[in-house]
Amino acid sequence: MLKVYNTRTRKKEAFKPLKKGEVGMYVCGPTVQGPMHIGHARTYIAFDIMRRYLEFSGFKVNYVMNITDIHDDIISKANETGVAFEELIERFIEIFFRDMKAFEIKPATVYPRVTRHIEEIVHFVKELQEKGFAYETHDGVYFDVSKFRGYGKLSGVKIKKSKTGTRVETDKYDKASAQDFALWKKAKQGEPAWPSPWGNGRPGWHIECSVMSSKHIGEQIDIHGGAVDLIFPHHENEIAQSEARSGKRPFVKYWVHTGFLNVEGTKMSKSLGNFIEVPDLLREINPKAFRFFIGQLHYKSRINYTKKDLEKESKKLEAWNELIHRLGTAKGGKENKKVSALVEKTMKSFRKEMDNDFAFSNAWAVLSKFKTQANKLAAGNKLSEKNAKEILEFLRKIDSVFGVFTFEKEKQEIGKHELELVKKRGELRQQKKWAEADAIRKALAEKGIILDDTPTGTNWKLVSKGQDNN
Ligand code: AMP
Ligand code: ZN
Repeated sequence: MLKVYNTRTRKKEAFKPLKKGEVGMYVCGPTVQGPMHIGHARTYIAFDIMRRYLEFSGFKVNYVMNITDIHDDIISKANETGVAFEELIERFIEIFFRDMKAFEIKPATVYPRVTRHIEEIVHFVKELQEKGFAYETHDGVYFDVSKFRGYGKLSGVKIKKSKTGTRVETDKYDKASAQDFALWKKAKQGEPAWPSPWGNGRPGWHIECSVMSSKHIGEQIDIHGGAVDLIFPHHENEIAQSEARSGKRPFVKYWVHTGFLNVEGTKMSKSLGNFIEVPDLLREINPKAFRFFIGQLHYKSRINYTKKDLEKESKKLEAWNELIHRLGTAKGGKENKKVSALVEKTMKSFRKEMDNDFAFSNAWAVLSKFKTQANKLAAGNKLSEKNAKEILEFLRKIDSVFGVFTFEKEKQEIGKHELELVKKRGELRQQKKWAEADAIRKALAEKGIILDDTPTGTNWKLVSKGQDNN
């Protein structure tokens, strides 16, 4: 039986979804003001592994990830760069999907965008106003937290008795300011705006997740995720909005939060120059190596990213792929009766660890032990084909959750001519003939062969046409 740590109760709880066998899962997606950074990637890969494990365990998962395509930060970025707001968001959304795919993150059931839900948002805010939870001011519509009993139940924040009278104009306010938060912001000159009963304007940040989760999942959902930075105010405010409107509690059965990723010991920031964007990372490493790196650590753990650690993990992954290769070429060995028992025992331990609040790291400790034993069994071509197949099948099942291995079959399906092209491209790159090298990459991509450049060489994989189109 799966247990999940719930941030709201601060306990590991038995996982019982609202509807038997089905899971409604909502993860706060990106604000598309730039390409994804490796902190986003940490969170999305971790939730992808959890989602895949739920599916592995037999649940049908409705996975929703919003795209925040209107936000103060996006408006600032558009003003800074002089690029039109619409153009900016389309560009970053395209890059987002490309990079999510590179990481083999399973597509969400739906990726709702804020700017395509304005009517529903207006309607939701109107209902909150009619129910007495919201009020209009000169610059917007605000949620009155003093009207909502239970404000602070997720984060532990207390409601202050006296109001300061100062209301901040952006979503980003600290606890010292008034706690009421914007549901709707009236537009200033030149800002993107939509019509509403309160004049032209745009939604506040928090309201989108209440509206889009209720539309695409329901008024109550099973799992709601994001990184710890969102517990307050974002998720606290989502609870207030959703429960105030529907009257149904709890809005979310299990609140799940991933740990933050820092770089070389400090929080990522553009000004410190330690801000790593995914497109830059993927120019240097195999996306699977990064997935592997993330998968080794508990989803809750804070990560201190260093290139050295990533390279270390990348080597470990290579060792796994070598084992897979050896298993793929096993021939003529004697059948070993112990293999089935070993596979069965490992699967049981793997599930036990993952059922314990998705303990990724403990699950890999189990797998790592298995690897040592499998390597011994496979050494010197001692395994029979049947044995090898059984182990490979097991590894494929594990990989349906973690998505990190490269199975030999994928490589073998590439023709000799294509293999030569990959090699040629490597040489061209060494000679810094980027344009010619890129032309080969494109030609191969058209045949469904996707290349990954890593410090130790280029890996390739075959994708089917359907997989290639988002
Ligand atoms: P944002 O684009 O900042 O709104 O964040 C989108 C998602 O990524 C949210 O679920 C955040 O909690 C998560 N996130 C942002 N920065 C990091 C980070 N450095 N480490 C882990 N998760 C992050
Ligand atoms: Zn959200």
